Amino acid sequence: MHLRSITMKGFKSFPDRTRLEFGPGVAVIVGPNGSGKSNVTDAVLWALGEQSPLTVRGQTMQDVIFSGGAGLPSRGFAEVEIVIDNSEQGLQSEFSEIAIQRRLDRGGEGEYRLNGARCRLIDVAEVLSDSGLGKEMHSVVSQGRVEGIIHSKPADRRMLIEEAAGLGKHRKRRRRAELKLRRTEENLSRALDVEREARSRLRPLKRQAEAADLHARLERQSLEARFELAADLARDAGAARVKAENAARQARVGYARAEQGLAAVAVRRKAAEQAFAERSQARETLSRSLFAATTSIDRIDVRLERIHDAAATAARVEERCRTGVAAIEEAERAAGAVEPDAVGLAIDRLVEAEAAAADAVDAALVQLRSLAAHADADSALGGALGEVVRADGALDRSRAELKALQEALDAGAEDGGAARRAAGEAARRSELRVQQGEVFEALLTRARTLAVGVGAAERALAEALSAVSARREWLHGELGEREGGVEPGVELRQLANEEAELQSELKLAGEAVTQAEVLAQQARDGAGELEVELRRLAEKLGFEAEPAVEALDDEQREALRMRVERIARRREQLGPVNPLAREEYEREVARVEELAEQRSDLETALVELEQVIAEADRQIRRNFEETFAATARNFEEVIGELFPGGHGRLRLVKPDSPRAVIAGEEPETDEDDEHEAEPGVEVEVTPAGKSMRRLSLLSGGEKTLVALAFLFAVFLARPCPFYILDEVEAALDDRNIDRFLKLVRRCSERAQFIVVTHQKRTMDAADCLYGVSMGGDGVSKVVSRRLE
Ligand code: ATP
Repeated sequence: MHLRSITMKGFKSFPDRTRLEFGPGVAVIVGPNGSGKSNVTDAVLWALGEQSPLTVRGQTMQDVIFSGGAGLPSRGFAEVEIVIDNSEQGLQSEFSEIAIQRRLDRGGEGEYRLNGARCRLIDVAEVLSDSGLGKEMHSVVSQGRVEGIIHSKPADRRMLIEEAAGLGKHRKRRRRAELKLRRTEENLSRALDVEREARSRLRPLKRQAEAADLHARLERQSLEARFELAADLARDAGAARVKAENAARQARVGYARAEQGLAAVAVRRKAAEQAFAERSQARETLSRSLFAATTSIDRIDVRLERIHDAAATAARVEERCRTGVAAIEEAERAAGAVEPDAVGLAIDRLVEAEAAAADAVDAALVQLRSLAAHADADSALGGALGEVVRADGALDRSRAELKALQEALDAGAEDGGAARRAAGEAARRSELRVQQGEVFEALLTRARTLAVGVGAAERALAEALSAVSARREWLHGELGEREGGVEPGVELRQLANEEAELQSELKLAGEAVTQAEVLAQQARDGAGELEVELRRLAEKLGFEAEPAVEALDDEQREALRMRVERIARRREQLGPVNPLAREEYEREVARVEELAEQRSDLETALVELEQVIAEADRQIRRNFEETFAATARNFEEVIGELFPGGHGRLRLVKPDSPRAVIAGEEPETDEDDEHEAEPGVEVEVTPAGKSMRRLSLLSGGEKTLVALAFLFAVFLARPCPFYILDEVEAALDDRNIDRFLKLVRRCSERAQFIVVTHQKRTMDAADCLYGVSMGGDGVSKVVSRRLE
């Protein structure tokens, strides 16, 4: 493994691309002061990741960019690439050649590339680790560095050995672990605080959660008991509702029945009232008929008497007429005269009888018509009426005849007067007599006719009388019958009573209906309310809202009530509870568990980190001790070469104490500070013939030799792939340069050397020579020569 090339562009005094190629062995770069030789050294340091501008002799990192020369503008960026041969796989990469490139522009923007691929500085460090080319690189030894080794502290020298021992990565690992450990400890302490606080919150929350659980349990128990009671009550209420509804239905039926009864009584009462009215009217009619019949009978009796008188008169007229006729006939025979006054008297009597007969007939007629109007016409009454009508006709005829008779009589009387005045005129007398006889004959006929009429009227009246009497008898009987039997007024009164009773019954039935309806509604309401309550409870419990199938007995019911009360009391005793407490508690428990887990993770991490640190410490100690022992041996040997007859040694010292500790002895360690804990490296050299001196008292050349001895001792213990030594031998005299070059040559078999020098002797030792020059333009130029 060796450095193959350095390519610079825009870097310091190399504005244009400049490439220096190297092979194994010793390469020497020569040139006048300020020509840019050290810039090449800087380029290697810079490309390998140097972070301090001071190390590359600048104020800021941008100072490495070519700042312009005579007639040359400054460059916008600096770029350096070094190519390392890795054909022996000395670096951690599968590539046989590793090109590391660094670039920086004026804006401060920089980048690294490994074999052309962009990467981070850490990737570069990774590739270089274990090669001795890392951060605390001692393979590039600039002028000031040699002095630095002499004047540096034991701890810094230790670092050089550590770097050579490849402890950087262990240190880094340890530092990282240490940082992590601190952070983890802080986190753990915070986690413990948080966990403690969370745990302290847990206890009251747990109590609250338990109270909430108990409350919830009690609530459920209460709900269950109430549900059971409600189911029982709902069952009862359902039954009560059915019963009340039935009762209401029955009450309505009762009411309807009472209504029907009342309606029937009303119908009956109406009928009775009608019957009563009819009966009264019939009775009245009958009474009126009876009265009329009785009156008729009386009148008929009177008429009958009169007609009897008329009949007697008629009989007497007839008798007289017959006597008159006989007298006339006698007179005829005796030619005697007859008193004409006798005829007039008969006519007067006849007229009288006729008037009586006519009255009787009229009366009979009126009577009969009245009777006929009041009563049903019967055959006897009809017969009597016919007779009366006929008698009336006979009377009319009789009256007409009587009138004619009266006229004849009047004419006869005039004639009679003249005759009488002519007294004695026999002829005429006889005629008179004939005329008188005719009148008597007519009178006789008339009287007979009258007698017939009167007889007919008499019969008719008698018949009428009997008919009227019969009717009166019938009416009497009827009336008597009506008087008998049930008195309609009584029935009406009974019906009124019945109606009143039914009315009050109806009223009661109505009240019963109202009451039953109210009760049914109450039962419905009650059942409804209970159903709602049951549903509410069932919903809360996740039950079916069904009323109980079997009824509870009193004891069970009482027990349930007591239970509900007891639970209520217990809940009251519990006081207000936080219903979310369980949830909060569980959340908090989960949080505490999570915190505990995190804490446990941190503790585990802590243990692991402590192990990592302990392991790193062990590694560091072991590696360091090994390397230190080898370096110390080499140092004594190299000192022997560089200071013939003199001697020197390396020893471990406590960092802040000059007191040395013997290598290999367990150093006293302080866990808190690794640098304080670990001993530094002190250098002791006693040149030949001189007593032991402080290093600071050595000459410049001696110091350089001691520093080189230290560097070579380290190199021999753990060689780097290449070394760049920048004018390290400037202060040496020829004899010592030879000793130095001898050492370089010895080592060049194991490593590549690039030596920047002014020394002619050193140039002679080169395998390859580079010349660097700088013109008036401030630009470095490089020429190379390979020497055989
Ligand atoms: P010596 O032999 O005296 O040690 P040297 O050859 O090692 O000299 P360097 O130190 O490498 O010289 O180079 C210094 C030169 O580089 C100076 O002339 C300086 O002006 C030039 N230089 C340094 N940085 C820049 C820069 N950023 N831009 C241009 N030139 C620069």
